[in-house]
Amino acid sequence: MISERIEKPLACWMSKEEYAGEIIECLTVIFKSGGCTWNRCKMCGYKSERYHKMAAEELSARIRQQLSWVLGEFRPDSYQMVKIFTSGSFFDTTEVPSDARNAIGEAFKGKIVIAESRTEYVKKDVVSDFIGIIDDSSWEKPFYVAMGLETTNDYIREKCIDKGHTFDDFKDAVREGRDAGAGIKTYLMMKPPYLTESESLLDMQKSIKESAPYSDIISMNLCTVQNRTEVERLWKQKAYRPPYLWSVLQVLIDSDIHIHSDPVGGGKRRGPHNCGKCDWDIVDAIKDYSLTNDKDLLKVYFDKGCDCMEEWRYVLKEEKPFCMPLTE
Ligand code: SF4
Ligand SMILES: [Zn+2]
Repeated sequence: MISERIEKPLACWMSKEEYAGEIIECLTVIFKSGGCTWNRCKMCGYKSERYHKMAAEELSARIRQQLSWVLGEFRPDSYQMVKIFTSGSFFDTTEVPSDARNAIGEAFKGKIVIAESRTEYVKKDVVSDFIGIIDDSSWEKPFYVAMGLETTNDYIREKCIDKGHTFDDFKDAVREGRDAGAGIKTYLMMKPPYLTESESLLDMQKSIKESAPYSDIISMNLCTVQNRTEVERLWKQKAYRPPYLWSVLQVLIDSDIHIHSDPVGGGKRRGPHNCGKCDWDIVDAIKDYSLTNDKDLLKVYFDKGCDCMEEWRYVLKEEKPFCMPLTE
């Protein structure tokens, strides 16, 4: 028997998003699901955000109850885009049973939908069926599959993140998604653990260049210290520091393409930060740039600098790599 209590998503909010040069209204929904099957990434704080094990019918019913709540709270004509997260993979049927997935598709028919999934669940048939549900010809590309590539460097992805897939796996998934008619949104991760500030900056610059041919949208996530993660354990030992906002500005200013970035936790000790005095203006400038693709504001703050810029330059030059033993 399904409980009578109201099921709500883990989070749901409206925001503005840049899409094809326009600023549009976007609804973001983080559905509570069966939880990520992989569940191993070192920075991921979503490991406990899941239902306890239950039959597929009950899981599906609960997700559909969350959907009803969302539709009751947010008028469908008030947004054009929907971003769907499930703390894992939208296309993993053990997390989101296919009838719940289809119900979500029906509910958001006519919107631009972006849904996150690990690479192994991105298959042409599944994606194309989903596009068939949401597409009412309002948009040339109504669906984007979002994948956490994190970095194009397989060694960093394996050793520093434990992501469990390779750049080649990602390319295969891009092929499957594109064959189905989906756009590709790529998430990159700035400063996973064990990298120096300078290594993470160079890795991000390289990853942007190398992932661009496989991506329609690139979003740079800035690593934050989430509760009960490997990153938090290292941070408590003073073995991890989130990225400097100066590094983020440097990456965005140097990039030839428009990179979206929402500096979640920006200016806080657990998030990307500088000295505490200059952070808020820079965080606002990054948000503004994500929407407008106008680098001028970024350059204004970079050129203006702050006393802590010297510290950042020193860190870039002097921080030594984390030494992992080469042998057991
Ligand atoms: S694949 Fe995504 S949800 Fe799963 S552990 Fe990694 S970051 Fe977390
Ligand atoms: Zn400062």
